[in-house]
Amino acid sequence: MATVFEGAQQQLRAVQNILKLDETTIRQLMHPKRVVEVALSVKMDDGSVNVYTGYRSQYNDARGPFKGGIRFHPSVTADEVKALSAWMTWKTAVVDIPLGGAKGGVAVDPKKLSSGELERLSRAYIRALAPFIGPDIDIPAPDVSTDPRIMGWMLDEYEEIIGRKAPGVITGKPLSIGGSLVREYATAQGAFFVIDELTRQYHLSKGTTVAIQGFGNGGSFLAQILADAGYAVVAVADSQSSLYKEDGLDVTEIIKHKKVTGALKNCVGCEALPSEAILSVPADILVLAALENTIHSGNQREVRAKYIVELANGPVTPEADGQLFERGVIVVPDILANVGGVTVSYYEQVQNAANFYWEEQEILAMLEKAMRRAFGAVALYQERYNTTYRMAGYVLAVERVVRAMRDRGRL
Ligand code: NAD
Repeated sequence: MATVFEGAQQQLRAVQNILKLDETTIRQLMHPKRVVEVALSVKMDDGSVNVYTGYRSQYNDARGPFKGGIRFHPSVTADEVKALSAWMTWKTAVVDIPLGGAKGGVAVDPKKLSSGELERLSRAYIRALAPFIGPDIDIPAPDVSTDPRIMGWMLDEYEEIIGRKAPGVITGKPLSIGGSLVREYATAQGAFFVIDELTRQYHLSKGTTVAIQGFGNGGSFLAQILADAGYAVVAVADSQSSLYKEDGLDVTEIIKHKKVTGALKNCVGCEALPSEAILSVPADILVLAALENTIHSGNQREVRAKYIVELANGPVTPEADGQLFERGVIVVPDILANVGGVTVSYYEQVQNAANFYWEEQEILAMLEKAMRRAFGAVALYQERYNTTYRMAGYVLAVERVVRAMRDRGRL
């Protein structure tokens, strides 16, 4: 079976055929520019020392400094961060922000660390990576199991090392030290603009029904934004259960219920179903905001929605993607649907560079313009090449990266 990174490389081969790229060009695009692997020694609370493996894959910086998150997870490998860094390169290109692609991570289970151990690990990671990052070089951000608090420690460590302020070295920071308004719900807000464009493109009426799998940071914000805009959010699911109501759920109530009880189940006035039932509820649009590989060839037939929006990274397997296409289901891919987060990260960096901070409405207006434009560009390529939105996104992104590489004389 192909590794995740080999899968990312196969996607490039498909793009090569469409764009008729020569072998030299494709070989330059096939590999990260640099991958750093570091051993991180961390003093534990009991006085012992643990050594963790950390990575940073800097994939492509033709369009601007490398950009991508840092994840703390036991399954992190060099192969995984390389694949994720390639996808970041395509994402920043699709939304046309002047950044490249990178990803980092540490193979660790952060739930097993105390707060002090987590802080020492975060600082150790940045000490090891400091020679390779910077506001004009490579800008990390939060990802799986990392958050603004960790970004704050990392920024502090970096500034101590270089002896001056450099808030733009990392994004997703707390507001008090240079974070941006909107960042907290940027991914969901970006997905909302994409869904809104989708409904225009396919002439769906107001009151379009939506089901959302995953009720965490991305899914719950999106449910609220959609409900506020007049969409009927008919179903939501977390890892334990789904809630369904034919004429639309009271999303505000459900968010409150989840905050208080920690779960979706037992929410008064909604029909509770098993978690996986979300995939087959009757809804126009199914948003996948949980995990990767959720829809595969074994269950893609259950999907009744005509449109799927990938807020999560890689929730539809390549095999299922082809089968859904055959069935006429339109999939809006992750590299378009979830770029709102990295887009506001870019705005955060611009504010840091100017040392001047925008109002929430100003950031929202810029995000809306960027997302609607990105959707339009991908939709144009989808028609031009008579292909899926996913392939159209890749073709657009690779074309933009190749153009920058040519203009630099690298090709
Ligand atoms: P999260 O951890 O806050 O939420 C995940 C949600 O998915 C939880 O409600 C969890 O209960 C649910 N879930 C897990 N397994 C499930 C299952 N089998 N069935 C139904 N629900 C299940 O994560 P998040 O930040 O919302 O991110 C979700 C996805 O979006 C991830 O793939 C992430 O990489 C991607 N993403 C998030 C952001 C962001 O800014 N939050 C940005 C880009 C991409």
